[in-house]
Amino acid sequence: MTLQQVSEHCYAVLNEKNRICDANSGIIAIGDGVIVDTQCDLRHAQELRSMAAELGIKKPKYVVNTHEDADHVLGNQVFRDCEIVAHKTVPDRMQTVADPVRLQQLSAAAKSLWKRLLLKMTRPGLLAVADQLAEDYEFHGIELVAPTTTFDDRLELTVGETAIELIYVGPAHQVGDTIVHVRNERVVFAGDVIFRDCLPIAWSGRHADSLRALDAITDLDPNVIVPGHGPVCGVEAMDEMKAWWNMTHAAAKNAFSRGENVEQACADFELQQFAEWIGAGREYVSLARSYREFQGVAADEEWDIPDVFEKIYRLARFRGTMPVF
Ligand SMILES: [Zn+2]
Repeated sequence: MTLQQVSEHCYAVLNEKNRICDANSGIIAIGDGVIVDTQCDLRHAQELRSMAAELGIKKPKYVVNTHEDADHVLGNQVFRDCEIVAHKTVPDRMQTVADPVRLQQLSAAAKSLWKRLLLKMTRPGLLAVADQLAEDYEFHGIELVAPTTTFDDRLELTVGETAIELIYVGPAHQVGDTIVHVRNERVVFAGDVIFRDCLPIAWSGRHADSLRALDAITDLDPNVIVPGHGPVCGVEAMDEMKAWWNMTHAAAKNAFSRGENVEQACADFELQQFAEWIGAGREYVSLARSYREFQGVAADEEWDIPDVFEKIYRLARFRGTMPVF
């Protein structure tokens, strides 16, 4: 992980590999300090806490989870002595979408020879995900620690003399999407409303919700944005992300109107300016999300995650690339 100072008191903690679960975090080194997102396992969370300590933030006053996904909350255990804050939907939602037991079972299966063989035959995508995660993450010993403070639309936290605004912009990427605004320094920690250099994923919300969440960030007129995944950016990221959502939604709409299924729609989809981004195959989730919208599926309906990884795997292979999740 790399520490990057983005304003006088704000820092991005970047996970350079930028693959699935490699989420960024933030440190706001004002007063007793604020941490934004806690990483995907205990080792990464401890490294984040050490980085904060070196900036003088020994016991952060607040820890914010920008949403309920595992890569943003599984390190909460390392910050259980702090006040952990998130949108009101996060404590319940994380029990399902960030359940560490599922990750522990998957990594155990990938270490067992006969289970590997079984997975290779029946779920090669899931096995590929497990192997990729095993390179950087250890899920053993993780307990889910829920936020202790929740809010509805907005919450203002104060550190030192400085106001830190939490603004609910979900559902977009997930149900609980929250952005963290440091107005004095014109910095926004955007969570997974923004991905860069890796293909975006959205598990909740509608097409229009993604655009609305991006507009909410633009309206704050930030100088610097720390995305949930990928390098630090400015407001140009909003154009990139809108282009992605508009491209994928239009392609899904055309294919849906022709009576094609999502896999057929993906096979015809051109990545265009996103061809160099990590994670070819992830476009399956974007097109499938649009299909869910056309079919009237509830935006917060659970996904069959193992099946999603198989679809990403097959699509990446179809595109002639080794799957990178
Ligand atoms: Zn994430």
